[in-house]
Amino acid sequence: MSHRRALLAVASRPRCRANSRRDPRRVAGTQVRAVDPRARTAETEAGRLSYDVLSVIPPNRTMPFITDAGLGTPFVDVDPKSFRSTRDERIYAVGDNADTPYAKTGYTAMDSARVAAQSIAGDLGVSAPGAALPANVCYPMVAPDRALHIETHWALEQDATGAVHVRVSGRHDDRARASYARLRREWETRTLSTLFGP
Ligand SMILES: Cc1cc2nc3c(=O)[nH]c(=O)nc-3n(C[C@H](O)[C@H](O)[C@H](O)COP(=O)(O)OP(=O)(O)OC[C@H]3O[C@@H](n4cnc5c(N)ncnc54)[C@H](O)[C@@H]3O)c2cc1C
Repeated sequence: MSHRRALLAVASRPRCRANSRRDPRRVAGTQVRAVDPRARTAETEAGRLSYDVLSVIPPNRTMPFITDAGLGTPFVDVDPKSFRSTRDERIYAVGDNADTPYAKTGYTAMDSARVAAQSIAGDLGVSAPGAALPANVCYPMVAPDRALHIETHWALEQDATGAVHVRVSGRHDDRARASYARLRREWETRTLSTLFGP
């Protein structure tokens, strides 16, 4: 997804005429042109969408001091295998500030922190098992007890010339399910425990 495009998620009940499907819809990476909160409609590149709950994530930007420091524009240029800055080897950037092929999500931010930590440990002479590249698993909640499922994996492959290519694979399931909501809660519990302790 381009960083300049808003991410739009639309949750709509069956009564909405524009969205006659039984399940809520997810519309990713479309340009939002206008929102009418009274009519509960959003004008987008993908047409007029009706909604009950509208979640718009604006284009992602980094803090000015990062670009001022010459670490990259619009995000910090890093080696996607270690998250080390390609402009200053003393610096690592993870999460939304890093310019990588990976999605900008909390899930990949957690994974990328592990990869960077292992790289730093290696530099300090501590032998650590190589961390896998970040993946992304999202369970967008569309009702208190139901969620969707989106999963993305990235692989870096070097061709005969030495150029590195990114292979992206994944799957998504837009059927709102209670099982996904349960998996999301498990992920949240695991993540909070990793960050702050049990
Ligand atoms: C509406 C919305 C929904 C989302 N839903 C999901 C989801 O369901 N699942 C998922 O995985 N991801 C989700 N994301 C993405 C996820 O929130 C981000 O990818 C993730 O938070 C990035 O982590 P980060 O640590 O890189 O940055 P952040 O979480 O943004 O943390 C950066 C921190 O730095 C602080 N800061 C900024 N400037 C300065 C400064 N000058 N000095 C000191 N501190 C500063 C900020 O206050 C902030 O606390 C969502 C994002 C949005 C906006």
